[in-house]
Amino acid sequence: MTPATSFAGRNVALFGLGGSGIATARALAAGGATVHCWDDNQASRDKAAAAGLQVLDLNSAEWSAFSALILAPGVPLTHPEPHWTVVKALAAGTEIIGDIEIFFRERAKIAPGAPVVCITGTNGKSTTTALIAHLLRSVGRDAQMGGNIGTAILDLEPPAPNRVHVIEVSSFQIDLTPSMAPTIGVQINLTPDHLDRHGTMEEYAAIKERVVALAEIAICGVDDPWSKAMADRRRASGRELVRISTGNLPTGIVARGGMISRMEGGEEFVLASLRNVSSLRGTHNAQNAAAAVAAVLALGMAPEALQRGLDSYLSLPHRMEQIGSVGRVVFINDSKATNADSTRGALSGAEGLYWILGGKAKEGGIEPLRSFFPAVARAYLIGQAAELFASALEGAVPFDRCGTLDVAVSRAAADAEASAFPHPAVLLSPACASYDQYRSFEHRGAHFRDLVAGLPGFQPV
Ligand code: ADP
Repeated sequence: MTPATSFAGRNVALFGLGGSGIATARALAAGGATVHCWDDNQASRDKAAAAGLQVLDLNSAEWSAFSALILAPGVPLTHPEPHWTVVKALAAGTEIIGDIEIFFRERAKIAPGAPVVCITGTNGKSTTTALIAHLLRSVGRDAQMGGNIGTAILDLEPPAPNRVHVIEVSSFQIDLTPSMAPTIGVQINLTPDHLDRHGTMEEYAAIKERVVALAEIAICGVDDPWSKAMADRRRASGRELVRISTGNLPTGIVARGGMISRMEGGEEFVLASLRNVSSLRGTHNAQNAAAAVAAVLALGMAPEALQRGLDSYLSLPHRMEQIGSVGRVVFINDSKATNADSTRGALSGAEGLYWILGGKAKEGGIEPLRSFFPAVARAYLIGQAAELFASALEGAVPFDRCGTLDVAVSRAAADAEASAFPHPAVLLSPACASYDQYRSFEHRGAHFRDLVAGLPGFQPV
């Protein structure tokens, strides 16, 4: 744990006790603050009380007593409308921050300059974050990984000169971190997502850009116009920039044709091969690998150690996770694909896909995936998005309206088995949020895993 001393001796309000909230409250209390916790959900409040935290109804609290409102990243700051705690804090002139801001303040106090890598982007954040941590650990470095992935940031060990914090940050977290100034800021890519929470694409992009704007070294994807514009602005600022791409670049790190290379003035220096790294298949993962390699090289990792590190990387659960097979049919859990862009990688593989999709649709639906439809043998629709997706698939891909995942899995498995494809695959890559039927993408992926494991003849990998 990182005790957070920046509010020692003061009162703070903390709202949002799911996820990182309890860890944050504990770290603040350990640092000497008096933390008043609240959540709209009774069960979360009970959990906090059971953990020994002080629960106080912030509805009727005296807000002028609070030095800050610590907000969980899932709670709306601006869109679709500010949460009631935000309204109260603003009225009282109380600053509103999140746990990553608290971490940066602590770092400034106890270990200024301790290496911190912050990773953001619309897609690939977790993969890139996990890969950076893995590569560093593969050469024996102390990498503390957390933030939007796995462990809450204040549950990690405190910042120190010989310890690298590898932190995934979502746009919501960046919004709550006014003094984010990482050693290395990584911005992988940017496509429309979460606009319900950020208003416009411009606002969403401006938030993401803060990860690279104040970084000592900025690593910027340049494969979409929004990220490229950020890289160009960084270049104009004269501060250190490494461009990454899955195409060509005169200077930077590129990952294409299965190889990762450093480009320098048009000359190519091959660093490593991705050809035998099955956990990083697909162009989207090549982009993530380029970003991760750029980050670890900037942290001083020897280029000669890259290949061994990449070869030993295992994919994260729910991201193109091969879970097993029934006869020739392979089952792939890509439940983490919650928008069309993140599903693209899954569909860019071989033909013979029996694709399960649907849930709570994001803006644009699956239209951006049209060029990948030929790889799909049949689609199985679940959740709220069924009608929207049915009209997109109409005439291009045969489909069934299945409603729920259990129906989809049994039909897809039977169809794949009966097909003539030599290597058919049943793929859950929903291109949708899960909240209409599940608590989270993990919950959805776990249900898929259970259903598949119950099929007769199932063999785990
Ligand atoms: P994030 O943490 O940003 O949501 P993940 O690494 O967890 O990203 O991957 C989420 C989903 O997005 C997966 O389904 C994966 O197939 C897809 N994906 C991963 N990296 C990229 C990328 N660079 N571009 C587009 N899609 C990606």
